[in-house]
Amino acid sequence: MILQDNLNAFYEVSKASPGPIPWSVTLNPLDSSQKKSSAENLKINQSKLLIVFAIHGDEIDTLPGVLEFISDFKKGKIVYPSSITFILGNPEAAKESTRFIEQDMNRLFVFPVPPSSTKEHLRSEAIFSTFKDYSVLLDLHQTRMKLPHPFFCFAFHKASYLWAKALEAAPVMVTRSPKEAFLPGKKCVDEAFRDLGKPSMTLELGHIGQDLKEKTYKVLKNFVDVSQKVYFKELKIEAVAQKPLDLLQRIAYFNFSDPKMTLKPDLTNFRKISKGEELGKSILSPADGFILFPKYPKRNDKGEAIPPYDPYLFQVLGSISLDQALKW
Ligand SMILES: [Zn+2]
Repeated sequence: MILQDNLNAFYEVSKASPGPIPWSVTLNPLDSSQKKSSAENLKINQSKLLIVFAIHGDEIDTLPGVLEFISDFKKGKIVYPSSITFILGNPEAAKESTRFIEQDMNRLFVFPVPPSSTKEHLRSEAIFSTFKDYSVLLDLHQTRMKLPHPFFCFAFHKASYLWAKALEAAPVMVTRSPKEAFLPGKKCVDEAFRDLGKPSMTLELGHIGQDLKEKTYKVLKNFVDVSQKVYFKELKIEAVAQKPLDLLQRIAYFNFSDPKMTLKPDLTNFRKISKGEELGKSILSPADGFILFPKYPKRNDKGEAIPPYDPYLFQVLGSISLDQALKW
């Protein structure tokens, strides 16, 4: 089993190059034993990178790219003057190839955790405890449905947006006002990191089951290159971010109010749709824009969606300018 082999390989590296918590790896510069000035040490301490992946256990196709990156770093093919830490978010769920064991971990970054904590609560607490040591976070995810291209997805925050832009890993960013929680009363890993005033990005790199080895490696390599420029060549992140990154926000959604509602089979994420367009029987698009997360749940023999299914049948995204987002 390839997944099992890769998980074992990551576990082995986490023993050889342990990070701050179980199932994490920290890569230190190969010359870390050399004596440094206090100014150099300060710079090194303020430029540590954190990468979280598989916080949803079944979003594990980034692992082969992570392993390749780690291996190349150890061979000296990739150089970074400070440390890089990888955290495999939900190892227990990853072993079972499932999103989570007891609770969706990427909603649980609200502290302190309740006394009746689940496995995922305890893990989110451990992950959060490491945040103080890192300057920037990249959180890698995958979607259920096919993606024509990767996308960033997080509440608008100027520094994080500029970092995302500089990474050149996706053409679009799906965003929202920073005043709006992803889900009320709950918090994702990237939100908890941004709450500390530091840039953090969530990147949906592809869909579950896709071969993401090369894409993952490239994103990680760019992350290091950008960090090198920002922290060690003293370039402003604005100067590093060259390619455009289009901003999209949710402008409408369609309630999944009847289990019989069925979308046309060919709707893929980011397909352009127009207001009034028929997207299924008696299902008309409420706006002009791009469709996101069209739902194709499992159905019974009467064609009814089998619960639990999502409250929205689909969302509609519309473009937003950077000026508008900066005013949020
Ligand atoms: Zn995810």
